This record gives sequence, structure tokens and C-alpha cells, in this order.
Amino acid sequence: MPDQVKPLLIGGDWIADTGEVIPSVDPATGRINHEVCAASARHVAAAVEAAREAAQASDWRDMLPHRRARLLAGIADRIEARSEVFARAQMLDNGKVLAECRAQALAASAVFRYYAGVCETLGSEVNPARGSYLSMTVYEPYDVVAAITPWNSPLTMEAQKVAPAIAAGNAVILKPSEVTPSAALLLGQAALDAGLPPGILNVLPGTGAVAGDALVRHPGVRFVSFTGGTQSGRRVAAIAAEKLMAVALELGGKSPHIVFADADVEAAAAAVADGIFEGTGQSCVAGSRLFVQRAVYAHVLALIEARARALRPAPPGAEGARLGPLASFAHRERVERMVDIARSEGGRIVTGGARPDDACLSEGAYYLPTVIDGLDNSATVCRQEIFGPVLCALPFDDEDDLVRQANDSAYGLAAGIWTADYRRAWRLARRLEAGTVWINTYKQLSIGAPFGGFKDSGIGREKGIGGVRLYQQAKSVYWGL
Ligand code: NDP
Repeated sequence: MPDQVKPLLIGGDWIADTGEVIPSVDPATGRINHEVCAASARHVAAAVEAAREAAQASDWRDMLPHRRARLLAGIADRIEARSEVFARAQMLDNGKVLAECRAQALAASAVFRYYAGVCETLGSEVNPARGSYLSMTVYEPYDVVAAITPWNSPLTMEAQKVAPAIAAGNAVILKPSEVTPSAALLLGQAALDAGLPPGILNVLPGTGAVAGDALVRHPGVRFVSFTGGTQSGRRVAAIAAEKLMAVALELGGKSPHIVFADADVEAAAAAVADGIFEGTGQSCVAGSRLFVQRAVYAHVLALIEARARALRPAPPGAEGARLGPLASFAHRERVERMVDIARSEGGRIVTGGARPDDACLSEGAYYLPTVIDGLDNSATVCRQEIFGPVLCALPFDDEDDLVRQANDSAYGLAAGIWTADYRRAWRLARRLEAGTVWINTYKQLSIGAPFGGFKDSGIGREKGIGGVRLYQQAKSVYWGL
């Protein structure tokens, strides 16, 4: 792949004749890393054609599962071998600290390896006999699927979509966020190097308004796997409704993180701080609403305040850095606006609520870890996703009060519970409206467990063995005997 202006990948060819380019800006310094070609509707049409041809070619359609698995494992090997390059590319695009980018690069490789295993072992089904015929259920690919990803963790999201979609027998058109195009382009190169047939993975950086919209509308795209904000997800769903196309939507969250008085409060406070500040709060499952039982509210808040104050922003590539900048300057302004709204609604800034004053960070999109209290669950910052290092703390009295407040949200992505009472933990895990519930841990994630949201947090479940089925259509075949 040439280095100057990074091209698009369509049908195995690197295409640079786009006219439009997008700059990749390092949010730690404000400097331009490089430029990337931006796809137009014309490129989307070319990619759909290339993908359809590749998906329907007999060498892909009839490929034996162990051969397809070997290709997936080959991609895993290449990501692992170049994991430092992948990690640094993501860090330069979105400012995530290098240690986390490295972990995500290795995890992306592991996702391809996991789906290599699933690809080789997943079978068809013979249904129970109900007469003088045999019936089987087989699973067919959609042929051409689109994967649209956000900027916070492209390494993770892109592996979690591309690997199962390919394992399922599709060709994929990947549209990364305009803020973070680099990891997707490296993935395209890794796929070519591993011998994936040209056209099975196409990579189209571009804007959501142009490339994303054209992709979702294109009649040749039969499934869209989208991760991003709820507003964009609704737009994708509206177009899908017109096309009668299936979609998977992984959207925003406003997850409750709950601490009961009987919990190990030191461990809980550490997990609450990590659960909101890791990734500078730019995580869909960030525990952004903290509910603490009133008896220990002041104590837990003081523990979290101490952790927030000790967590100093630093350049993402610096030794030991734990809190990088926000992913873009525009995003920092959004976070600042939300904190201003909290102030205007009567919130008390316990700590943070400002940019750091370190001279060496003045060029970057940094923001201090922020804790707010004095608001109730109806406040704007408790209702809307901030997607930054901002925690809103709220007291609760008893279990029913807690459940009412925690579930009083448009979102339902995740929740965390800290308690020593295992019966209560189980009861609450079932009562909370969330696609993932953590008990005495937080942000523990496994590729083997399905992931997705309730309510406005999305539709469909990615990951796990069923992650492959998401990208397939069941077909029943009857055979008269
Ligand atoms: P956006 O919704 O703005 O964008 C997500 C992706 O969709 C980007 O590639 C974007 O393109 C594209 N896009 C935007 N509008 C359209 C459209 N009309 N048609 C097609 N594609 C479109 O989200 P962000 O990138 O700002 O990411 C942050 C959001 O993602 C947060 O709400 C967060 O909660 C959510 N998220 C959810 C996760 C989950 O698993 N549930 C995981 C991670 C994040 P472009 O950026 O190029 O304009």
C-alpha cells in the first residue's frame, strides 16, 4: 500500500483516484498524520460489484470450511506479526493509549483465530422427523454485507464484524469512521497477504453522509452490521426498513454501575473509575451513571475522586500512559458542552470539568477525568451519552429504588453490580434492562459471549458462535423419501 495518500481497497486493487481526501489528525498533537482517499457513491457501486462477483465465484462459494478457516487464521497471524503497526496506527488516529491499542491489536488477531475455529466446526442441522421426508436446515451467506464502524476502538470493532462475516461465506465492504481509517486499511492489506480472494474484503474510508449512506442504500448490499451512535443507527434502520434488509445495530449506552453498602467498596471504586475513565470514557459500555447505596455514598465518592485526581492525562505513546486525549477536537467540544449543561442544571463538579493545564498537553484534545454529583437521574448528563471521561454519581435507597432509576434510561447496553449478596446479584442481573451485566467485575469481555443492547442500545447480537449466524440466512431443505 503506498504511503502518501492512502488509497481505497476495491476488488483487490488499491484505488487512489477519488478526488476527495480525508486527513487523519493526531488528537494528541493536532498534527496531520497522513491523508486518506474518501470513497464516493461511485466507489461504493464498484465495491459492491467486486464483492458480489467474489462472493459468487465458485472458488469462494464452494470453498471447504477448513480452507476458509485457514485463510482466517492466516489473517490472524499477519495481524499478530504486525500488531505494533496496527496498535500505533490506531493510537495516531484516535489517541487511545498505546498499551490499550496493543492489547486490542492482539485481541483482533485472536478474534480471527476464534472464527477460524467456528468456521471449521459449525454444521448444518437435520430436523426431527415428522413424516416420510427428511428436512435439513442449511445456512447461506447474504453474499455482500457492509460493516460500518465508529472511531473509538476500530481494531476491535472491525475484527468482530469482518471475521464472522467472512467465516459465514460473505464478501464484506468495510467502511471505517472518517476519524480512524488506518486500521481498516491495514486489515485490508493483511487479508490480501493472507491470500483472501480479491473482492472478499473491500475497504472504503469515507464519510458517513456519503460513503456510509450510499452503502446502506445500495440494492446489492443485503445486510449491514453497524456500530455507532443511536441517531446514525436510526437512519440506517430507516433505510433498511425501506429495502427490507436485515441489520445489526450496536449503538450507544448510559450504563449504570451500582455499588451496594455490603460490597468490597475499595474494589468497586477501582472498577468504577476504570469503567468510566479507561479509553478516556470513549467506550460504549462505559459505566457513566454511578449508583451508590446512600449509607456508603460519601465514602465511595471520595475513593473515586481520589482515583480520578491521581489519573493524569498523558501523551498516548508515553511510558505508563493511562489516559490519552479525546479522539478529536470536535469531540472534546461536545464533552465540554455536556459538562457546561451539567453545571447549568445545578451539578457540582467534584473533580475535573476542565482541560489539564500541563503545558506539554496544550496542543492535544485532552480533558480531565470528571466526577459530577448533586443531580438526579433526569438531568441531561444522566440521559444523554457523553462518550467522555465524565461520571455522574447518584445515591439510591433500596433495591426497588435502584432498579427504577437504573432502568429509567432510553439505553440498555450494560450494567455493573457490586454486592456481597449473591441472591441479590442474581435478582438484579435479571431485572436490569441491559444486554450485558457484570457482577463484582466490570468491562470483562469475551469473544465467546454474545454482545448487544436492549432498547435504544441496538438490535442483534454480535460475537460468540452465533456471530457467524448473524451473517447468514437459514434455508430449510425438504427431501421426500
Ligand atoms: P457515528 O454514529 O457518528 O458513526 C459510526 C459510523 O457510522 C461511522 O463510520 C460513520 O461515518 C458512519 N455513519 C454516520 N452516519 C451514517 C449514515 N447516515 N449512514 C451510514 N453510515 C453512517 O458514531 P461515532 O463514530 O461518533 O461513534 C461513537 C458512537 O458509537 C457512540 O454513540 C458509541 O456509544 C457507539 N458505539 C457503540 C458500541 C456498541 O458496541 N454498542 C461500541 C462502540 C461505539 P463517519 O464517522 O465517517 O462520518
